Amino acid sequence: MALIDRTLLGPGPSNPYPEATAALSAPLLGHLDPEFLRVLDDTCARLRRVWGTANERTLPLSGTGSIGMEAAFANFVRPGDVVVVAVNGLFGERMVDVAGRYGADVVRVDHDWGTPIDVERVLAAHPEPSLVAAVHAETSTGVLSDIRALSLAVHKRDQRALVLADCVTSLAGVEVAIDAWDVDLAYAGTQKCLGVAPGLAPFTVSPRAWDRRVKRPPTWYLDLNLIGAYVDGSSGGRTYHHTAPVAMITSLHAALGRILEEGLEQVWERHRAAGALLQEGLVEQGLRLFAAEGHRLPELTTVRVPDGVDSARVRQILLTEYGIEIGAGAGAFASSVWRIGLMGHNARPDRVELVLAALRAAIA
Ligand code: PLP
Repeated sequence: MALIDRTLLGPGPSNPYPEATAALSAPLLGHLDPEFLRVLDDTCARLRRVWGTANERTLPLSGTGSIGMEAAFANFVRPGDVVVVAVNGLFGERMVDVAGRYGADVVRVDHDWGTPIDVERVLAAHPEPSLVAAVHAETSTGVLSDIRALSLAVHKRDQRALVLADCVTSLAGVEVAIDAWDVDLAYAGTQKCLGVAPGLAPFTVSPRAWDRRVKRPPTWYLDLNLIGAYVDGSSGGRTYHHTAPVAMITSLHAALGRILEEGLEQVWERHRAAGALLQEGLVEQGLRLFAAEGHRLPELTTVRVPDGVDSARVRQILLTEYGIEIGAGAGAFASSVWRIGLMGHNARPDRVELVLAALRAAIA
C-alpha cells in the first residue's frame, strides 16, 4: 500500500527534520547498551544548550508534552499548596485541571483568549504561592507570553516560589533561556519546533526546585527520583526504571544535532522570518489575524475564518487536494479560526508560499 505523505502545517505534529526521521531507521540498541547511554547523555547535554540552562536535571521524559505537565505538578506540588495558573488558552486550562488532580489549591487568573498573560494580575492573584505556572507559547491561540518578566517578578518578590513554564510550542522556535530567566521547571514536546515525532517531553529542573521536590510523588512512572537513577549516570551505575524509548531518544538526539549545527539563534530567526512572511501574506489576502498584535507567535499563526466561509470544508480541500494539514481553532473558536504552524523543518519560505497559494484557491 502506498504511504501517504502530508505537509503538516497545523498546531503539531510537524514534519520532522530529515535527520530525525533517518535516525528512526538505525538498528535498535538496548536501553542499557553503553553506546546508547552515550547517546542519552549527549541528548541531555544538547537539551541543556537548547533550553539555555546548566540544570543537571535536564532529560527527555517518556511521553508527549502533557507528560511534562503531569510530571511537574506530581513532583513539585503537595496537597494544599497554592498554585497560581495564568490561563489564556486551552493549555493554561489543562494546567488548572492537572494541578487540581495533584491536590493543589489552584488560583486561576483568566485572560481573554488571544491575549498574552498580564504579569501584574498574575502576581496580584496571591501573595505567597508555592508555584506560579504559565504557558510560554499558547498553541490554542497563537500567543507568546513574557515568561522572563513573569519569572523575574515572581522571584523578586519571593525567592522560594517556583515558576513553571510550558514550552511545548516555544522550545527551538523562539528564544527560551531557562537560567537567564530564572525559570525553575519547564517542559516541551518533540513534535513541534524540535522537529521530531511526538513521544518525548524534554524537561528541566532548577536546583531550587529539586530541593523542594516531593520525595514520594503519587505516581510511580513519573517519579523523577526513580527516573533520575537511570538517566543520570554520574553517580555510578544506572538503575532500570522503565524501558527507555531508545529509537525516539536517538531521533531527538539527531534533531538537536541539526538544530545546534544550524545555530540556535539562526533557527529562531528562520522561524521569525517564516512567520512574518506568512502573516503578511494572509493580511495581503484580506484575512484577519486572531492573536493580539505584538504577541504573535511566528511558529503558529491564528487567522479568522472569513464570514460565509465553511472552515471545515477549506481544511478538507487543503488536505485532499494539496496534501496540507492545517488546524481548526481551539475551544470556542473551533470553527471561526484556523491555526497554521511553521515549526522546525517547516519554518521555511517555500512552505509559506505553498500554504498561502493553497488557501487562496480553497477559499475562492
Ligand atoms: N502544551 C502546549 C502549549 C501544547 O501545544 C500541547 C500540545 O499541543 C501540550 C501542552 C500537550 O502536549 P501533547 O499533546 O504532546 O501531550
